[in-house]
Amino acid sequence: MLKPRFIMIHHSAVSYMANADQFEANNNYHKAQWNFKSSMGFYLGYNYEIAKSGFIKQARQEGEQTAACYQENMNNGQCIHVCLDGNFDIEKPAPEQIYALRDLLRGLVKKYGIKKDNIVFHSAYAQKSCPGKNVDLLFVRSLVSSNVFKK
Ligand SMILES: [Zn+2]
Repeated sequence: MLKPRFIMIHHSAVSYMANADQFEANNNYHKAQWNFKSSMGFYLGYNYEIAKSGFIKQARQEGEQTAACYQENMNNGQCIHVCLDGNFDIEKPAPEQIYALRDLLRGLVKKYGIKKDNIVFHSAYAQKSCPGKNVDLLFVRSLVSSNVFKK
């Protein structure tokens, strides 16, 4: 277990109009792909997944190895991976997802003293649009009020 220093944002790339809560589907998909079980008994590669309703499910402990981004050791536990259900190249995150993400980010930033610049997008590390062109990095960072960040 590592002390997390980064938080990476992802989307599932499947429209939430097709499936509003994709935890089960993604857990099964990742099981078929990698069969990499977490200490919590799940196969999902991310630490957290946020359904369209804003409901947050956890699949891996913070600091535990992940299967979410293969670049720059971002799977070794130093990064907490958060996936929002939806395809944000074609739709926008639901308000409930934004509120849930805000609360989750605030809690994690406070708990681990994560720096603002260390809230990152998958697209900065891999040749992907993840988490989609309709999600703005500065907006996501602004969800955490500046006095919560470590200076
Ligand atoms: Zn991603």
